[in-house]
Amino acid sequence: MDITRIAVPTPLDIESVNCFLVDDDGVTLIDGVMASDAAATSFYRRLEAEGYLASDIDRILITHPHIDHFGLAGEIKEESGASVYAHPDATGWLRDLNLYYDRKREHLFPYLRSLGVPTNVARSMVHTPTGAYSDMWGPVETDVEITGGDVVDVGTELAVVETPGHCPASVSFVDTAGRRAFVGDTIVDGFVPTPLIMLKPGTETRTRSLPTWVRSLEDMRAFDLDIAYGGHFDPVTDVPGRIDGMIEQFQDGADRAAETLQTTGPLTAYQLHTEIYESHAARDRLAFLSVTVGHLDLLETRDRVTKRRINDEWLYDVASATHR
Ligand SMILES: [Zn+2]
Repeated sequence: MDITRIAVPTPLDIESVNCFLVDDDGVTLIDGVMASDAAATSFYRRLEAEGYLASDIDRILITHPHIDHFGLAGEIKEESGASVYAHPDATGWLRDLNLYYDRKREHLFPYLRSLGVPTNVARSMVHTPTGAYSDMWGPVETDVEITGGDVVDVGTELAVVETPGHCPASVSFVDTAGRRAFVGDTIVDGFVPTPLIMLKPGTETRTRSLPTWVRSLEDMRAFDLDIAYGGHFDPVTDVPGRIDGMIEQFQDGADRAAETLQTTGPLTAYQLHTEIYESHAARDRLAFLSVTVGHLDLLETRDRVTKRRINDEWLYDVASATHR
């Protein structure tokens, strides 16, 4: 299995995104980068430099339905006739991301209000990205639905492992014999992607991203990988170390949230996120609020915070508030 990493620029906060060209039994592309002009130009140029044409690609495996990881997949499929593989929870978004944005507007808005987010701020958080975003992805139909336990034979057998957390429909592709895996944004070097508040596909409930992510990381640890090919930056070569580091970072954030609540007394998640992140939070409210909610979810699963509903808003407090 010959693996080539192709990194292309993105106009997002994160500078570049990876896809991987796997030459084995036929040519497989893991993830489909973005559809922006710069990303597409850079992708096709690099493909050619490596000696391939888009029409050579036989299959496209999607790790998760975020625009920087599937945006160009539809176009590549059209040019190559490649079969697209994705998790059933991802297929709806891959076909029409606007449906997801519509549902988000409808169902996430009241949830954000319950976190104490002011109406006007909540409205801006659920708006449909238009303009700059709309040319970053095109629709793509899934040909083969894959779930945990399936095997995709690309010449080498890749086990499908469900790794939700960063995104609810996230999967990793593990070459167990070769102790290597394509992991999307589940394990990334250098930074920790945001555990965004999202709706569970096909439901109106939001995900509990961080506790789910920690479980996925623990699942991945069991494969004892030598290398993990992530969706951004260089591949991770100390996989157990990076998994521990990420879990530790999540844990530190949760501890900080608990300590803050200990000092301030009961707060909504919105108040807590401004307390912790102050003026930084204004840069990307949804991201910082999502991280805060993730930390609170972690604390909740460990019985370290309690919450009660007052006037349609959730107030969080440390579980042993009497010690304050
Ligand atoms: Zn990403």
